[in-house]
Amino acid sequence: MKQTLLLLPGDGIGPEVTAAAQRICQLVAPDVAIEEDLVGGASIDKHGVPLTAAALDRAKSVDAILLGAVGGPKWTDVARDKRPEAGLLGLRKGLDVFANLRPAYCFGALVDASSLKRDRVEGLDIMIVRELTSGVYFGEPRGIETDANGVRRGFDMSVYTAPEVERVTRVALEIARGRTGRVCSVDKANVMESGQFWREEVTTVHKTHGDGVELSHMLADACAMELVRAPKQFDVILADNLFGDLLSDAAAMLTGSIGMLPSASLGTEGTPGLFEPVHGSAPDIAGQGIANPCAAILSLEMALRWSLARPDAADRIMAAVGRALEAGARTRDLGGDLSTTAMTDAIIDCL
Ligand code: ATP
Ligand code: MG
Repeated sequence: MKQTLLLLPGDGIGPEVTAAAQRICQLVAPDVAIEEDLVGGASIDKHGVPLTAAALDRAKSVDAILLGAVGGPKWTDVARDKRPEAGLLGLRKGLDVFANLRPAYCFGALVDASSLKRDRVEGLDIMIVRELTSGVYFGEPRGIETDANGVRRGFDMSVYTAPEVERVTRVALEIARGRTGRVCSVDKANVMESGQFWREEVTTVHKTHGDGVELSHMLADACAMELVRAPKQFDVILADNLFGDLLSDAAAMLTGSIGMLPSASLGTEGTPGLFEPVHGSAPDIAGQGIANPCAAILSLEMALRWSLARPDAADRIMAAVGRALEAGARTRDLGGDLSTTAMTDAIIDCL
């Protein structure tokens, strides 16, 4: 059956970097049909809302979605639910993508761009699996109020159900199976009930679904320290929404520029995944043709691997990006002077 990739270029540098990824896709997977729709500010300008019901329906019907970025100064003076970012949240919610994958690997040619010394990051290859739809960011009740004694307080609730922990744990175990087979689950089981629960559930799921995978546990604060001290000890890191948010940003900085970082958000098997660069719409450089297309191209790589089941095409992209960097191809954020198009050409030359 013919596979379809939906492009949602969005705003700012989004259209520039997704255009680059589209060129690569047409070369490595020419039979994948590519469609395009609007999200974010681009959708607000045309339809008055950051995500139309029709665009969401379309997203649900394809095999994978590649999103550029949303947002920009033009759309900040409106209510929160009418901002471009609400389009992205609506998409994540509508697709029920609960497992956020953030790789942190170091291309050999960029080792010296890391904030750590060469020997600590050379060969670094971590996959962080972050739960994306639950936990303290969504728990109820939450609020800011004044209590009976007139003291103001703010509160959130950290809640996980067993099925929520189970589904994201199974994704982490599955991913580890295709790598070196080690999952380190992160929590604060020492001070949080929800953390203790997380650890128990992960352990239970591992007993039934963990064939061939070694599971360990680490406290989140220790993990933050170890990520900086000796990051190569990790293979897959499994974390809840909050800790995954913090640790994936920290891990990202081990590997260099924000322009290099892809992400994937996966739902249940058979539903389309959402793939997007970690960076935002970068309004400061939008329209200049100088954005680094690698994060978008590597997001395409993840789409081919995780939603379109084309590991060979994904491998080709990884190898080509690595070779282009070895050959010295660099956009401005990496200290070079190549335009978005020239960087993409350099990668295509290496395919
Ligand atoms: P958001 O709120 O959407 O995350 P932001 O302003 O926090 O937006 P970015 O849009 O990612 O973050 O931009 C942060 C900085 O990184 C900016 O200076 C931007 O120019 C730069 N940057 C982001 N993406 C790229 C890229 N692909 N290539 C080069 N520079 C980039
Ligand atoms: Mg930001």
